[in-house]
Amino acid sequence: MKRKPRVSSDRSQRRALSRVDEKALDARERLFALERGGSAERALEVVSASVVETHALSLPCPRCGGPHQLIEHAARTLGSGARVRDVRLRCRQCGSERSVWFRIVGDTLQ
Ligand SMILES: [Zn+2]
Repeated sequence: MKRKPRVSSDRSQRRALSRVDEKALDARERLFALERGGSAERALEVVSASVVETHALSLPCPRCGGPHQLIEHAARTLGSGARVRDVRLRCRQCGSERSVWFRIVGDTLQ
């Protein structure tokens, strides 16, 4: 079946809007990744591992503003020797997933 030529109906306008929304959401996700905690290189600094999960869960989903749930909390060592925590989060509302990174500073016994 051939596609109908695009017409400027309400419906196609809504589709165009949702494409724009999708772009805006992707931009928000990219912004989140550029902020502190969005990557291992820009990990959020915390004084104790005990606050990592609470802090991560306090961040709203950059896509929809919904609350996160914790998937995984992993300790990793970077090539530079820095010890970081990779906290995998999933949004309870829209289901998107992301990592928030932390570096534990201060207490060397951690
Ligand atoms: Zn979300």
